[in-house]
Amino acid sequence: MEFKDKVAIVTGAARGIGRAIALDLAREGAKIAFNYQKSDSDAKSLLEEIEKLGSTALSFKGDVRNFDLAKEFVEQVKSFFGQLDFLVNNAGITRDKALMNMEKEDWQEVIDTNLTGYFNMSRSVIVTFLKQKSGGIVNISSISGISGIARQVNYSASKAGIIGMTKALAREVAPYNIRVNCVAPGFIETDMTNALREDVKKKSVDSIPAGRFGRPEEVAKVVSFLLSERSNYITGQVIKVDGGLHTTY
Ligand code: NAP
Repeated sequence: MEFKDKVAIVTGAARGIGRAIALDLAREGAKIAFNYQKSDSDAKSLLEEIEKLGSTALSFKGDVRNFDLAKEFVEQVKSFFGQLDFLVNNAGITRDKALMNMEKEDWQEVIDTNLTGYFNMSRSVIVTFLKQKSGGIVNISSISGISGIARQVNYSASKAGIIGMTKALAREVAPYNIRVNCVAPGFIETDMTNALREDVKKKSVDSIPAGRFGRPEEVAKVVSFLLSERSNYITGQVIKVDGGLHTTY
């Protein structure tokens, strides 16, 4: 039980990668607080699943784009559990379009969720982490933020921004025994990639050396590693989880 007596926040955990992260941490004994935006029944079933694992969970329906809601979520977590050890920034969206068809709203919604949402949550936990001189943050970026993907100008920009944010914050808080790292998944089987056209899916699989999309659990394992004491001397790093899709520096 690697995370016994630890409390972790996972954003956007009702479905997909966030859900797998919450379950992996709970399996190792962590108490979980998670938020989501719309998926009430998925959130309820996640609460039940975490309780079945013998852990405790708190769910919060709230938009990470809203700074006051992010602050309120963190305050609720601290008063419910009496402590806070980890933050996993995961809630993210896509609004894929060629730039010539991209509306200002498509740009803004993605930046507000994927980048400002991570700021809102990080800003809300950081004073607690600084005071206690401990804490771990893992930000979920994407290969799209490293190599850029056509029709994802908004998403690639947000995911590259997350990498910059991770590196800057890691340097800022390392003296306080707080580590900040990034995981950059390639193509992972979730609702986000299920929405891709069949021909795009096939082309994507063909480009992956491992010959398949990844599973959310395979991302979750890396997040758990980065929050654990097994990675005590790793901070400010970007770990790709992509089946060999992107192999250059
Ligand atoms: P997903 O299946 O679409 O799930 C996204 C989750 O985020 C949902 O629980 C959703 O809540 C929540 N969410 C979205 N906007 C939110 C907001 N404004 N406030 C609070 N919660 C919000 O996505 P996924 O594929 O698991 O992706 C998770 C993360 O991994 C994202 O950051 C994504 O960019 C990144 N990623 C994914 C892939 C991939 O291939 N799937 C690859 C690279 C990176 P509701 O359920 O209530 O809608």
